[in-house]
Amino acid sequence: MSLTLQEVHDLLLRRGQTQYGLEAINQLEHALQCANLAELAGETSETIVACLLHDLGHLLAAEREGTVEHDTTEDDLHQFIALPFLRGLFPEAVLEPIRMHVDAKRYLCLIDPSYWNDLSIASKHSLEQQGGVFDEAQANAFIAQSFAEEAVRLRRYDDLAKVKDKPVPGLEHYQARLAEVAY
Ligand code: FE
Ligand code: FE
Repeated sequence: MSLTLQEVHDLLLRRGQTQYGLEAINQLEHALQCANLAELAGETSETIVACLLHDLGHLLAAEREGTVEHDTTEDDLHQFIALPFLRGLFPEAVLEPIRMHVDAKRYLCLIDPSYWNDLSIASKHSLEQQGGVFDEAQANAFIAQSFAEEAVRLRRYDDLAKVKDKPVPGLEHYQARLAEVAY
């Protein structure tokens, strides 16, 4: 079931042209902007790769359904969809921040009052579908997990990676990091 690096690359190029939810950019642009912000912040290769691939589940779901439009009316659980496809390819340091990136939003909404305010309309909308803001007990359980801090940082890059026509390095820029981090 696991994808190869080549298949991950091809999927990003083939399905990356689909719109990123309700935002003004496409999935590939979003992935590249997210990875770029992580790289500029000095993150590890594992976290940068997690940023690049954090929404791969959206692309896999679209591939499976043969659709080009992303259905925004219900939660697609995209943070889990990519995991079985990537588990044979990347370590936990890549998989766990991907798995936790939706919960990181629920966490940040509780601990940072300004965070919810700054979310895009689309992201506020999806928050409700994803279970809403964490309570204290949920937040404590979340942040105690390995790679939760990385997931929270990924989430911050994710939220900023929605800028129309921003020039950032292309997918080829990440080939060496992908190869370095992959088994
Ligand atoms: Fe996502
Ligand atoms: Fe995202």
